[in-house]
Amino acid sequence: MKTAKPAHAPQTQFAVVDDCLHIGGMPLTRLAHRVGSTPFYAYDRSLLTRRVQYLRSMLPAQLSLHYSVKANPMPALVQHMAGLVDGLDVASGGELRVALDTPMLPAAISFAGPGKTEAELSQAVAAGIVVNVESTTELQRLDRIGATLGIRPSVVLRVNPDFELKSSGMKMGGGPKPFGLDAELVPEVLKQIAAMGLDFHGFHIFSGSQNLKAAAIIEAQEKTFELAFRLAQHAPQPVTSLNIGGGFGIPYFPGETALDVAPVADHLHASLPRVHAELPQAKVALEFGRYLVGEAGIYVSRVTDIKRSRGELFIITDGGLHHHLAASGNFGQVIRKNYPVAVGNKMSPGEAGNASVVGPLCTPLDILADQMALAHAEIGDLIVVFQSGAYGLTASPTAFLGHPNAAEVLV
Ligand SMILES: *Cc1c(COP(=O)(O)O)cnc(C)c1O
Repeated sequence: MKTAKPAHAPQTQFAVVDDCLHIGGMPLTRLAHRVGSTPFYAYDRSLLTRRVQYLRSMLPAQLSLHYSVKANPMPALVQHMAGLVDGLDVASGGELRVALDTPMLPAAISFAGPGKTEAELSQAVAAGIVVNVESTTELQRLDRIGATLGIRPSVVLRVNPDFELKSSGMKMGGGPKPFGLDAELVPEVLKQIAAMGLDFHGFHIFSGSQNLKAAAIIEAQEKTFELAFRLAQHAPQPVTSLNIGGGFGIPYFPGETALDVAPVADHLHASLPRVHAELPQAKVALEFGRYLVGEAGIYVSRVTDIKRSRGELFIITDGGLHHHLAASGNFGQVIRKNYPVAVGNKMSPGEAGNASVVGPLCTPLDILADQMALAHAEIGDLIVVFQSGAYGLTASPTAFLGHPNAAEVLV
């Protein structure tokens, strides 16, 4: 019996005209001239806008939508996102500066992440943003900084929940974690906050990331609400802010299919009246990184050499793991799988044969595609890695081997 090989989810978000991929209304070949050099990342602003509009059309109107800047901190992109979402979530002082350059109001910017330095906390307090507190040390530091600056810091407690988001690409809650305060310790910490010069806003409960299963997300959201209700009973002030995390994934690998948002949205529609009854002043927020930006971006490199080794075809490009660690399989993958890859100026595979796409780094880890069916490529052709709008360039070891950096454009 023949079983079909699992395939990548189709890349239908970009138009293909005369066999050439278009992005931002422009043929890729022309965009390469416009950028002036390869490799580069290109992000399509109309796709970013459409994704946010789609989510808003599904989700309850009273839910806030936040963008997690960590997924892609390119300033022009963050600027664009700031005009679409209700809040920006940052995870470093550097990301905070990018967020503060946008028109987003400081009160709608939050700063999470373990190990914030004194300098970062002081930056955050002076800016008037919300700090998602990850430890009691951070609380004490904020109390001191607030007293020094004469500003009452706005804080949200990040809670390490007593459950996890099942079947997640990355688990960020449940069990022992460096993120947040363990849920069972929160009632005691809330007592301490009551005696400090801090403005308590609420809770941030983030249980996981990169999830494609609606049922798992619904279950985690249900538990998140229950946990928030329990903890709120110990709060020194009414909860005005409840960030329930995000976790929506995008399909990267063969056999993965897009998340069905409808059941998650239905469940949120059904849950919000109860949330409003329990926490009448709470603004509920969802935070997304890759789901908002991941599918809107491509990584483009140029074929520099083609060779055959013992029967296998190798397409060598000027791009590789130094710009796109995730596509090389070295960013959290256990078993290496291919991202969706194509020859961008020859989109119909034609006499497709199997080929591997590798970069110029002198290491066997530098693979962009391992034995994929690709169109017949020639030197000068453009190789496209799809699903590259999140955790691309900034999640890559750009200094490794000293090759030139990649450009980034928002089109
Ligand atoms: C990284 C991170 C996110 C974004 O995760 P995505 O998978 O990109 O949506 C959201 N919230 C927190 C707290 C994070 O650390």
